[in-house]
Amino acid sequence: MKIGVLALQGAFREHEKSLKSCGAETCQIRLPEHLEDIDALVIPGGESTTMIRLLLEYGLLDKIKERAEKGMPIFGTCAGMVLLSKKVEDSDQITLKLMDTVVKRNAFGRQVNSFEADLDIEMFDTPYRGVFIRAPYIVSVGQGVEVLAKYQDKIVMVKQGNFLASAFHPELTEDNRIHKYFLSMI
Ligand code: GLN
Repeated sequence: MKIGVLALQGAFREHEKSLKSCGAETCQIRLPEHLEDIDALVIPGGESTTMIRLLLEYGLLDKIKERAEKGMPIFGTCAGMVLLSKKVEDSDQITLKLMDTVVKRNAFGRQVNSFEADLDIEMFDTPYRGVFIRAPYIVSVGQGVEVLAKYQDKIVMVKQGNFLASAFHPELTEDNRIHKYFLSMI
């Protein structure tokens, strides 16, 4: 299995490391042609406004949408979750509009830049340590969206068909259960 990791900006190397330790082959995606022979895509954390600008500049936005609509699995973390959503609350920020979710950026407040919390995730028997960094959360979801985890009543992990998104950073922990779960979606 070959997993592309969007490598325009942000925490892409950490995702490659986690995916490799689950036995997957990875490659870095910077140009539209890089998408051709991958089985799935990871959109990492970083700065969603910068990433969207670069996606448009490199002609990647339409290409990713095209492959996604034909069934390619995508996992978005943090800024990646923002990019997968159909809308950013109180903003007209451009997104991929692949998931029926509305997100709020930097949603846990300025004072709380980052924190860790144990999360109960739907498909796991034991808690998962979530690392949140200037994290978004999901304000509302449409009918086809499965909520997989909440933190203090806020939705922080969702799945919809071939798309998976988390507000936290599983690539920054040694616990590879989420990456393994994503690979099982392919
Ligand atoms: N706050 C960032 C954004 O909305 C996301 C932060 C992150 O990916 N760690 O783009």
